[in-house]
Amino acid sequence: MTGVPRIVVVGSVNADLMLRCPHLPGRGETVVGSDFVVTPGGKGANQAVAAARLGADVRFVGSVGDDAFGRSARAALEAEGVDTTHLATLGNVPTGVALVMVDDAGDNMIAVAAGANHHLDAARLDAAQSVFEGAALVVCQLELPLSVVAHAGVLAQRHGVPLLLNPAPAAALPESLVRSLAYLVPNEGEAVLLSGVAINDVASAQAAAVRLRATGAACVIVTLGARGVVCASDAGEAASPALPVAAIDTTGAGDAFVGAFAVARSRGQPLPESIAFAQRAAAWSVQRRGAQAAMPYADDLDGADPHSA
Ligand code: ADP
Repeated sequence: MTGVPRIVVVGSVNADLMLRCPHLPGRGETVVGSDFVVTPGGKGANQAVAAARLGADVRFVGSVGDDAFGRSARAALEAEGVDTTHLATLGNVPTGVALVMVDDAGDNMIAVAAGANHHLDAARLDAAQSVFEGAALVVCQLELPLSVVAHAGVLAQRHGVPLLLNPAPAAALPESLVRSLAYLVPNEGEAVLLSGVAINDVASAQAAAVRLRATGAACVIVTLGARGVVCASDAGEAASPALPVAAIDTTGAGDAFVGAFAVARSRGQPLPESIAFAQRAAAWSVQRRGAQAAMPYADDLDGADPHSA
């Protein structure tokens, strides 16, 4: 495929309300924090931004509430060049939010209220159907109702578009959805939950990928943080170590990986090159703070030494 690939992201939009605190509060405890910021988030939006920054024509399908967080989330996506024609504004529900506390040791506590994300329904996807036409890839996560993700799978199949599912946060998946997947891309914890295989090392991760592939997904890629990825596909099994970089904030690493992988595959790059490209993007992101703010642009990865980028 040549030209700018079109990627449809059917996914979540959140406002991330973040603050730093010296230690995470215990039950009933109030901790005096600092550095409060509201940043655009949601796995769907993060992956859309990652793909848009790397040059894809990204169309977003999702929902926000009719509130200030929803308006700024939409504006943030548009500022990144993501098409929001099919980002619905729903009345009487709040935009999804994530409350994030990070302590001085870098540990965090997160609570998410799905809000408008959980009010997206199959009828709205049907109304947005035209967006699937001519798309190179549909990308979903699990921050929407599972029924909506399953319906996205049906529509993708109907339009002959491959579907990538990043099953985060992990949930048991309907067999029909798994069988419709061109790519299933869980992280380590999600792969353990979905496969039932305990992952201790690359070999056991490989076994989990093979087990998951046997459930029907054409290609399974398990991301293993600093240990890289393992992959099971019709070409066999492969492991690719992560780039040895000094990570300062791994928030959104998986989203950077998925967004970049989607772009590379949509451009017709072979699987190993696409995984390598995604690892470069993810390695770049872990060397910067934030989620969407840490997504690389194409220029950031072109020719630059990813180890020192
Ligand atoms: P998630 O953010 O979904 O939990 P992972 O932690 O598995 O996902 O990270 C996704 C990818 O990001 C990894 O496969 C790897 O390529 C890259 N990555 C994550 N952490 C590091 C790190 N410390 N050093 C280099 N690359 C990393």
